[in-house]
Amino acid sequence: MSALTICYVASEIAPFMKTGGLGDVLGALPKAVAQQGHNVKVFVPYYRHITLTPNRLRTVEINHAVSIKNKQYPITLYIHRNGKTKVEVYFIGNDDMFSRAGVYVDPETNRDYEDNDERFIFFNKAVFAVMAHQRIKPDIVHVHDWQTAIFPVYGKTKYLSESELSNTKYILTIHNLAYQGVFPPEIYDKLDLDTTLFQPMTGPFEFYGKVNFLKAGILYADKITTVSEQYASEIQTSKYGCGLEGVLKKRSDDIHGILNGVDYTVWSPSRDRKLYHTYHIANLSGKRMNKVELLNEAHLPIRDTAPLIGMITRLVDQKGLDLVVAAAERLFAMNLQMIILGTGDKKYHEKLNQLQEQYPDKFRVFLKFDDTLAHRIEAASDIYLMPSQFEPCGLNQLYSLKYGTVPVVRKVGGLADTVVDYNPETKEGTGFVFEEYTPEAMLGAIERAVALFQKKRAWTKVMKAGMREDFSWNKSATKYIDLYQQVHELSSVTG
Ligand code: ADP
Repeated sequence: MSALTICYVASEIAPFMKTGGLGDVLGALPKAVAQQGHNVKVFVPYYRHITLTPNRLRTVEINHAVSIKNKQYPITLYIHRNGKTKVEVYFIGNDDMFSRAGVYVDPETNRDYEDNDERFIFFNKAVFAVMAHQRIKPDIVHVHDWQTAIFPVYGKTKYLSESELSNTKYILTIHNLAYQGVFPPEIYDKLDLDTTLFQPMTGPFEFYGKVNFLKAGILYADKITTVSEQYASEIQTSKYGCGLEGVLKKRSDDIHGILNGVDYTVWSPSRDRKLYHTYHIANLSGKRMNKVELLNEAHLPIRDTAPLIGMITRLVDQKGLDLVVAAAERLFAMNLQMIILGTGDKKYHEKLNQLQEQYPDKFRVFLKFDDTLAHRIEAASDIYLMPSQFEPCGLNQLYSLKYGTVPVVRKVGGLADTVVDYNPETKEGTGFVFEEYTPEAMLGAIERAVALFQKKRAWTKVMKAGMREDFSWNKSATKYIDLYQQVHELSSVTG
């Protein structure tokens, strides 16, 4: 098979900038695809928080400005090349658009930036300008979530005549359908696209009178992927379809679920430099030392018989925090301790602070984004809780498995695909799974976990079963490459 030129266009990339799983995926998938011999480039915005190593960097002058409603926005471009991974990252900047305190949300108001539409219209158009300037001829452009879902629309309409793009195929990955990029109708002009694309009922952008970026992307991409198989079928139902289930069903034959992988160079207890102590499946003593250090850092007493439950999460409804709050009294009546790391909705900041005051020797919350602490919580915890309402893939349950931190999860989306419920008869399983989205169901699963924790041998068996699982990117990257080849061959036949 010949090597393809694959361009990833997305709004986050770890380790430079991430707010969640999307950043992790962009930090790992391109690397894994490049390792299999393809020519890989990633295009991301140049946010203020990004620091780049000068010796890997090339600054390129682009004499082209993006025009949005007659206003011109100049483009800055920094190309970062990592000789080891062979991935080139194109950081596309404009100070007005991206040199800000937040990524999507203004930290002062805790609301989305009002001009997020313009910021990502700028970014998508700037990527086209950079591709033309650098004479990049992608076989595949792989876009991610609403921020770049409009790219295939531009590629197949406005920029179609550009020879670099005449054979390009577009893949859209939905990491989270709950975020669609929905804007008031007045902004449609800013897109600078034909008005027919916003016609009521038939226009791909039109969504109950508003402009919906993701909807248009779903209709224009050649293939759509979701980050787990379960989520691919869930989003085609009214329960999980967030209003787009009809549109998704229309594209049903082109939707594929490909599970996210884990970058084990970043997330492995035996090589994780962020930990107080590394450890290994054959010697778990370091795990206990991590727990002692973290409990000290959290000012919680050390209680060997009490399992420590960890959660690292955006503090939003999706993640099941209302269940945790509703169950708090019964939860903290059990012999356990809990640490949550997260930021998000103010209501959860307040409620979790209250709980911390109420249960000072059992519960500690860190209200911040802190990658080092995230690694330490993964390593130190005995149990990892993910009671999500919905979960497109979920990465922390996968990290937890590798760290011997037994996941307790709701049977939904990627959680259902990756955690095997413990069976007391066969003593098989990698975690504890519950179905109903209720505090009782969640407490039931936690009770089962806490009870097994007291049976050291059985517990260690579950830990080790998880640690042996392999969710490395290789498998998933191969599935993506198969899909890229498949659509590319289509273009050779038709184009
Ligand atoms: P989502 O993308 O919905 O937020 P995922 O489970 O797919 O959820 O990925 C979340 C990623 O973000 C994980 O790498 C997790 O460790 C990280 N993360 C979330 N909140 C924080 C935080 N407050 N500090 C550090 N890392 C965080």
